[in-house]
Amino acid sequence: MKDTLGTTGLIFNESLLWEKGKKGRRGFSLPRRDVPEHAVAKKLEGPGPDFPDLSEVDVVRHYIRLSQWNFSVDSGMYPLGSCTMKYNPKTNEVQAARPGFAHAHPLLPQHLSQGALQLIYELEQYLTEITGMDATSLQPAAGAHGELTGMLLFYAYHKSKSAPRSKIIVPDTAHGTNPASAALCGYRSVPIKSNERGVLSPQAVEEIMDTDTAGIMVTNPNTLGLFEENIKAVADIVHAKGGLVYGDGANMNAVMGIVNMGDLGIDVLHLNLHKTFSSPHGGGGPGSGPVCVGKHLEPFLPVPRVIKQKNRYVLSEDFPESLGKIHAFYGNVGVMIRAYSYILSMGPENLKKASQLAVLNAAYIKERLKGTFHLPYDRPCMHECVFSDKLQEPYKVTTLDMVKRLMDYGFHPPTIYFPLVVPGAIMIEPTETESKEDIDLFIESMKTIAREAKENPELLHAAPCKTKRKRLDETLAARKPCLTG
Ligand SMILES: *Cc1c(COP(=O)(O)O)cnc(C)c1O
Repeated sequence: MKDTLGTTGLIFNESLLWEKGKKGRRGFSLPRRDVPEHAVAKKLEGPGPDFPDLSEVDVVRHYIRLSQWNFSVDSGMYPLGSCTMKYNPKTNEVQAARPGFAHAHPLLPQHLSQGALQLIYELEQYLTEITGMDATSLQPAAGAHGELTGMLLFYAYHKSKSAPRSKIIVPDTAHGTNPASAALCGYRSVPIKSNERGVLSPQAVEEIMDTDTAGIMVTNPNTLGLFEENIKAVADIVHAKGGLVYGDGANMNAVMGIVNMGDLGIDVLHLNLHKTFSSPHGGGGPGSGPVCVGKHLEPFLPVPRVIKQKNRYVLSEDFPESLGKIHAFYGNVGVMIRAYSYILSMGPENLKKASQLAVLNAAYIKERLKGTFHLPYDRPCMHECVFSDKLQEPYKVTTLDMVKRLMDYGFHPPTIYFPLVVPGAIMIEPTETESKEDIDLFIESMKTIAREAKENPELLHAAPCKTKRKRLDETLAARKPCLTG
């Protein structure tokens, strides 16, 4: 094996700023006052807030050192399944930082916001075209918020037919946010098992679909990284009983420009712009979870909507059946600018190619690691593949032990213990932006770890060994978090 990326660097310890402060240090100097002192200034004298006194270099080093404790897509491969941690081209940041966008205030009058409104309008059109749906709203702030909006759309649709319904079918491979969104909207979620091939079977849906069921939520490709090949038959069954089909499109990175969601019978689909369309995410930053709908649901979309009147873009509230507003102003515009920049800089051919490469990379990992790790569903995968720790059981080495060890080799751990249908799951999503060399290094590291599991299990029980923080007591860390570094 070639040299690993490793994690032995010059990583500094760092204390709290409060511990570093020294009375009298300053990080700035103001110009000498050239106006008389105002009475208010006198009133402000006296003990201020308890902030430490710090020099500029104290502050800069503090934050740079903390940033070096972090791992990011800009420092290495981040194969966190279901999260699409692709590298985000920096041109997207340049566009989002343009003063005309970055300094625009959401309360600016519409005639001074034409650029932002045009961008929102055109991005909605692009997403409508990419997904094969009929209309899009960019208001929802993240995937889960898109799901909630989708459930509100279901509710508005059934109400318009004077026949509200009470249940939603949710497969056992669903992301946890799916049943949560249904429940927030007052629906009772009815679980359904996937079949032995890891996908929905039309018969199982037929058995539980009834006229009190508002519809079904399907993630496609699903969280096992498998394409729901029976989706059209499932959609037909649900539609025949008057229900609707919700598509969780968080995994769109596998099928961009390839699958037409409208043709599959999807009525509402959410996208995660921060996953598929390249905005930095994780760590709780802003996201964007637009919903794309078929014609029959368009009247219910949130307002305001951006419409085009002659050559002007206008925010319109004139949609009497709309479910109302679901976010302050128009959603997280910064993320939209990045997605718009990404789509335009890629173009249709490259968006499609990104998906093809994302699938190829995952399939390559699946083929090269099967045998080393147990592969519960041995069939063509989409943009991610799911292994388990079954083959390491005899050595009493678990998924957690192995992915902790991966940090010693310089990789962010994959998603683990999800989806729940695979005990000890290891869910790997390499994305299209990793080179073959880096993917090979990842594969070799995983194979080395499997060897270590057999020959030196104690090592894995203690891993990670080279990182700044060694193995944490996860229960203690969750119950009594110590946040002082
Ligand atoms: C990420 C994800 C979500 C939730 O999206 P957020 O933007 O984190 O709210 C929902 N479903 C699936 C399948 C996902 O991967």
